Amino acid sequence: MGMSPEEFRRYGHQVVDWIAGYLAHPERYRVLPDVRPGEVAAALPHAGPEQGEPIEGILEDFERLIVPALTHWNHPGFMGYFAISSPGPGILGELLTAALNPNGMLWKTAPAVTELEQVTLGWLRRWLGLENDLFGLIFDTASTSSLHAIAAAREMADPETRQRGARGGLVLYTSAEAHSSIEKGAMALGIGRENVRRIPVDAEFRMRTDLLAEAIESDLAAGRRPFCVAATVGTTSTTSIDPVEAIAGLAEKHGLWLHVDAAYGGAAAILPEMRHVFRGVERADSLVINPHKWLFTPVDCSVLYTRRPEILRRAFSLVPEYLRTSEDERAVNLMDYGVPLGRRFRALKLWFVLRYYGREGLAARLRAHIAWARELAAQVEAHRDFELAAPAPFSVVCFRRKGTDEENRRLLDRVNASGEVFLSHTVLHGKFTLHLAIGNIGTTRGHVQRAWQIIQEQAGSAI
Ligand code: PLP
Repeated sequence: MGMSPEEFRRYGHQVVDWIAGYLAHPERYRVLPDVRPGEVAAALPHAGPEQGEPIEGILEDFERLIVPALTHWNHPGFMGYFAISSPGPGILGELLTAALNPNGMLWKTAPAVTELEQVTLGWLRRWLGLENDLFGLIFDTASTSSLHAIAAAREMADPETRQRGARGGLVLYTSAEAHSSIEKGAMALGIGRENVRRIPVDAEFRMRTDLLAEAIESDLAAGRRPFCVAATVGTTSTTSIDPVEAIAGLAEKHGLWLHVDAAYGGAAAILPEMRHVFRGVERADSLVINPHKWLFTPVDCSVLYTRRPEILRRAFSLVPEYLRTSEDERAVNLMDYGVPLGRRFRALKLWFVLRYYGREGLAARLRAHIAWARELAAQVEAHRDFELAAPAPFSVVCFRRKGTDEENRRLLDRVNASGEVFLSHTVLHGKFTLHLAIGNIGTTRGHVQRAWQIIQEQAGSAI
């Protein structure tokens, strides 16, 4: 027999109470767990149960075996990679999505899934200051969004591919600091890594447009076919901002599809004073921004906007008889715009988050994160034992202790072993660098300052 409504109510209350307690005191847990590879699996049975088990036991094991073995991304001390958040409104949206379990593959299979997605992405687009004719849809991750953008770029350059398969000779351009998902997308689509040009960056980690222009000319001269350029607003290591306007000029000159990866940094365009980060983005053919990065929406939720939905549709639409509906002429069927047929109701949690905080509420939080990052960057710069490794235009600070790579590596390990804070690293100009990202909605200025204090203590330097 299934779970009775009474049983669901009882355990549902218990689970919601547990979540409320977790959100109130995430600091009860270490950010980084103290576990070794294989430990979790070894504590679990090799085979699933023949007979169903009571929920009590499952919840007990969840708390005993699973929770302590997680890296707590929803912890205010989580400052590695890009910090993310799963606040109350997002959790409630996810809960209701799971309860309804609609599949928005077609408009007809769940009309509100398609329409709420279009409406929320319209709100977000306006908040980002983007033009009206952008079509948006939600994918799981930026990696998937960018893969679809590159596929659309290829469809524009090589409309025969769909029918005949890839012909080769196409070349994609991105910067040496671009996220690996761009190159991976090109790999997956059969463009080939050899045909991805990682254009060098300037001293501030921005794509060098003079070298981009040279690379395009040289490929053209060799008879190859440049088809796509992917610029980044907020690169993964340093959050540098590629000169999108100049890149757009080159893309237009050579008829290339311009994709902008603003997976993390795009959120900042909600702030009028940060709108400049999107300069030139209005000329892009596609843009990815992840509400699950810096817009307080639970993983997963990545938005792909495009000015050319008809090309994306041409690349992906394939409709078997059993998926035809009488509304096909009048409604958007989101399955036509990508690989996945099934579609989770991700827009629901986004709608909850956008409505609960409102534009001003989101903006206030982003503004604070940026201010705390600037404060920390100034403190690092002023400290005799530390140095800033890159400008900090958003909420990420890259820095190192003046010393060897090994010293910095050990420093990072000691800081993370504290369990209070978690930072990640990168390598910049060949040097091991600490990367501190502010982005969790529970993080306060106090948490950032405490992280700085721990870093200084562990570096053995005077505070
Ligand atoms: N683009 C940038 C700039 C990123 O920093 C990341 C991940 O951090 C990605 C894309 C990939 O994001 P996702 O995990 O959503 O695929």
